[in-house]
Amino acid sequence: MNLNSEQLAQGLQTIVGEDHVHTDLFERINYADTSLPYDVEQGDLPDCVVQPANAQEISEVLRYANEHEIPVTTYGSGTSLIFGTKPKHRGITLSTERLISLEIDEDHQWFECGAGIKTGQVIKELGKLGYFLPIQTQIGSSIGGAVSINTLGHLTDNIFGRPVNNVLALEVVLPTGEIIETGSKCLRRAAGWDLARIFVGSEGILGVITKVRMVLIPMPETVDAVGFFKTVEEIGHVVGLMYKKKLPLPMDGEFVGEKACKVGYEALELDFPEGAIAITRSMGRTKEEAKENAQEIVKLFKSAGATESFILEDPEIAEKVWRVRENAMRWGQEKGLKGYLAIEVNPALPRLAEAMTELTHITEGRNDLIGQTEAYLYGHVGSDSLHCLFAFPYSWSTEKMKQVVDEIWNLEKELQLKYDGVGGDWGWLPHRVPFFREKYGETSYELIKKMKQLFDPNNILNRGNVEGEV
Ligand SMILES: Cc1cc2nc3c(=O)[nH]c(=O)nc-3n(C[C@H](O)[C@H](O)[C@H](O)COP(=O)(O)OP(=O)(O)OC[C@H]3O[C@@H](n4cnc5c(N)ncnc54)[C@H](O)[C@@H]3O)c2cc1C
Repeated sequence: MNLNSEQLAQGLQTIVGEDHVHTDLFERINYADTSLPYDVEQGDLPDCVVQPANAQEISEVLRYANEHEIPVTTYGSGTSLIFGTKPKHRGITLSTERLISLEIDEDHQWFECGAGIKTGQVIKELGKLGYFLPIQTQIGSSIGGAVSINTLGHLTDNIFGRPVNNVLALEVVLPTGEIIETGSKCLRRAAGWDLARIFVGSEGILGVITKVRMVLIPMPETVDAVGFFKTVEEIGHVVGLMYKKKLPLPMDGEFVGEKACKVGYEALELDFPEGAIAITRSMGRTKEEAKENAQEIVKLFKSAGATESFILEDPEIAEKVWRVRENAMRWGQEKGLKGYLAIEVNPALPRLAEAMTELTHITEGRNDLIGQTEAYLYGHVGSDSLHCLFAFPYSWSTEKMKQVVDEIWNLEKELQLKYDGVGGDWGWLPHRVPFFREKYGETSYELIKKMKQLFDPNNILNRGNVEGEV
């Protein structure tokens, strides 16, 4: 960068206005902080944060950044937790938070929105008209962030598809400042070339998504069911059976392992059977159809060894069951452990039960720091995504925490390779690079780097992410 911070801020103010450029320490930390158990470091703060109002202003910011060789990190809502939005080379953090338009067009059967609008807001507005957003991640996340990660959150992949299947068109500002549009106003996604597919899931390395047009999906009726199992391994087997028996798949299938259940039941004072739980959300066009589908799941759970299984008709019990799952990330805190880090493993279906068992006992008999943590297993069996949360005391030194974080990330990579997983949820591109290189090889990795260079010759956008800097 050939400017000092003051010159940089002045230059940006002429583009987006004084109120939308921030250089104070608080805002710089706010837009760079991570969920790691230690504080963000000075070198990982941006020099300034900008909040442009539209694609035109973003284009001007990016042209300015190219002219002065300033790295730009795109920020949706920062809920991808650790890697994507942490600036690796200071520079500008570009927030999309002012791009919040929303138009729901029932005649065309799509909605179009600004990239910065929160998924929670879109869910609410679509819901008023009886439509459903097939992205159910953290409600504070932005649509642009979710689309750039290609995430659907907890939903089962092969029911609604991922955003790449539901995005009809995008407006994108390229790293060099040109504004392009993909798709059309019709409901058909192009066969053959469709540039939207390159940007969806590219985690912000090829451009800034400014507008998203997505197909409208009618809101399904849903009915939840629960199964109590002696071990989480049984849940792993039952998921495979659900597919093989060609049952109507639940749109969401969650589970909580034995240890997390035990602490959860104690914390919430619940008298549930010991073991692990599976919770499913079946859907249908009518409530009756959803209930029939849920009954099939209950039947399957019982035949596969559940100690108890039933439809969650009583709202009080339903609320308690969901609280065990939704709070699974904090059960370590109940035991006085506060530092934590979660991993994601997506085993191939026939090895789901084996992976669940390995993760249940992952801390046992180890000599490394992982052996000194408490591990809690939970996740989304519907979308084949296991999370293991490692909890450790805050009293550990920063150095010790950094060491355990390294061990945990390495373990995640090894497990993904072992169980034929794929990774990518949560927007952890830089962290996933070592896995990607080992799994797909250097030729594939070079292709991504070349694509990045083609779109972004000065390596302005999200610099350090493709390089795997964490
Ligand atoms: C409790 C909790 C549960 C979660 N569950 C899930 C889950 O089930 N599945 C899952 O995948 N994730 C999950 N997440 C992670 C996260 O919420 C989602 O991945 C979310 O979609 C990220 O959106 P965001 O707006 O916060 O993106 P950010 O964190 O702001 O950005 C993510 C990446 O996208 C880029 N980006 C952001 N906006 C744009 C844009 N407009 N154009 C181009 N690039 C952009 C950023 O540079 C960054 O690399 C969860 C997070 C929390 C806290």
